[in-house]
Amino acid sequence: MSSRRAAVVGAGTMGNGIAHVFAQTGWDVALIDTVPSAVERALATIRTNLERQVKKGTLPQQAVGEVLGRITPASTLDAAAAATLVIEAASESPAIKFAVFEQLDRVCSPDATLATNTSSISITEIAARTGRPAQVIGMHFMNPVPVMQLVEVIRGHATSDATTAMVMETARTLGKTPVEMNDYPRFVSNRVLMPMINEAIFCVMEGVAEPEAIDTVMKLGMAHPMGPLALADFIGLDVCLAIMEVLHRGLGDDKYRPCPLLRRMVAAGELGRKSGKGFYEYGGKGEREKG
Ligand code: NAD
Repeated sequence: MSSRRAAVVGAGTMGNGIAHVFAQTGWDVALIDTVPSAVERALATIRTNLERQVKKGTLPQQAVGEVLGRITPASTLDAAAAATLVIEAASESPAIKFAVFEQLDRVCSPDATLATNTSSISITEIAARTGRPAQVIGMHFMNPVPVMQLVEVIRGHATSDATTAMVMETARTLGKTPVEMNDYPRFVSNRVLMPMINEAIFCVMEGVAEPEAIDTVMKLGMAHPMGPLALADFIGLDVCLAIMEVLHRGLGDDKYRPCPLLRRMVAAGELGRKSGKGFYEYGGKGEREKG
């Protein structure tokens, strides 16, 4: 089991979850971040999340130490040299990702597969920075990684069938459900979700109905667990605006035009839960107070 070696680049929100699920399924994981305190925080978060699994009875106590023992902290990409699969989850900046992939291409074995967890940057463009575009692929985990079932597996222009099959199978062995797709802006999840949220915001702007009413329609009428406006507040309205802008720019179609009310709320600092106010108001603990 332990002969499988992965490297996770970036130990933030997503990197700690990705390292957690790989180590829990028997992979040795190098967890790499340029900020050493980020790796320390990630290991503490993984320990807390593993202990929670123990409390729930889904993991034996002795597994906590075993899983943590399979994760090796590191601060440079050289630690990815022995990995057969690298999952990059560094900050969402093209300059950072391009530099990481150029360096991974030099450091890693020629057989290694390089995956990125990017939410918005073209897999094809990232792959073009390497000498192995057939072995570069998107592996888009959802947050929180140990809990969420879905992995979007995104084929760049040159990604091979063999790379795709290996990554699909790896995701299954992590206990996830992979879904294969091609490299277009924002893949499937955000491309379908965000225009729906944007349309709900148009409904607010045009006075079609109050936010609470719109969310009730979508929850009770469409069986959505959460209404689109409560979800927008949860994601962050600034993030929603950024996603709509990528869709609008990347696909060049005005059907993705961000709603002017969304722009205005972001400009006013009403970002949703994280700022205490969006379509709803939130108390100190991010609790929804009123609609
Ligand atoms: P984050 O800001 O929590 O963590 C990013 C980490 O990358 C930081 O610890 C930073 O120090 C590190 N980093 C930056 N440059 C680096 C480099 N050159 N080498 C190594 N580490 C470096 O970000 P996040 O929310 O975990 O997002 C990571 C990636 O996952 C992004 O591409 C993002 O689009 C994607 N993503 C995020 C979510 C989400 O809900 N947060 C969901 C799906 C995908």
